[in-house]
Amino acid sequence: MNTIDTHSHFNLYQFDEDREAAIKRMVDAGVGTVCVGIDLETSKLAIEITLENPTTIWACVGQHPTEWKQEFDAVEFSALAEGKNVVAIGECGLDYFRPDDKEHKEEQVVIFRRQIELAIESGLPLMLHIRPEMGTMTAYEDALDILEEYKQAAPQLSGTAHFFAGDTVIAQRFIDLGFYISFSGVITFVKEYEATVAYVPLERILSETDAPFAAPAPYRGKRNEPAYVVEIVKKVAEIKGISLETVEKQLLQNAKDLFTNLNF
Ligand SMILES: [Zn+2]
Repeated sequence: MNTIDTHSHFNLYQFDEDREAAIKRMVDAGVGTVCVGIDLETSKLAIEITLENPTTIWACVGQHPTEWKQEFDAVEFSALAEGKNVVAIGECGLDYFRPDDKEHKEEQVVIFRRQIELAIESGLPLMLHIRPEMGTMTAYEDALDILEEYKQAAPQLSGTAHFFAGDTVIAQRFIDLGFYISFSGVITFVKEYEATVAYVPLERILSETDAPFAAPAPYRGKRNEPAYVVEIVKKVAEIKGISLETVEKQLLQNAKDLFTNLNF
């Protein structure tokens, strides 16, 4: 394994037709992945997938912020968090992208707080999903205010900002908290991200696909797969002006440092 896709969804229906073949393509490409739940059912499915692929796939269990209509089942989730292939809690956070979700900030905050508390209790890092409303950074600012509050009482709290879409000011707040910044396929085709990739120290960067969503160049418009994470690592190397081999090694090390239950 040379590369890790720290955020993907083999547990979603988009892989129902060819899940095994897509996993094989990932393994053949020298890639492993963290399979991320968005609710109770997909979190359980993520764990099931890891049981069949214990050396290449790990699970993350939690409830996505747009799933605010459902209450957070702390009992069920804390039982899942004890699974040996579980490496993180989430994806959780705040999503203000669609007006309907933004109107339900309060519900989102409640389920976010429960998951931060579960992360602290279980000693697992957070997989953050924070999606701002277009043209603003308020979802990031609100999430950081909450995280900074918990961090005071629980300095060991850690995590990563998945699919990072913030600016360098937001990135610096995550770095100051001891969190990581995870870049997705959008850095391969949206020039505006290059300044942020250049800004964040290599020791704090993670690579991810968010498959089946947001395929990187040259696969844009197709269903995304963890095997394509290599394109994101290449782009980080290109922007940083560092050899691909060095970047691969460091990103793998970063994932191990954050997700301490990764066993490879
Ligand atoms: Zn995701």
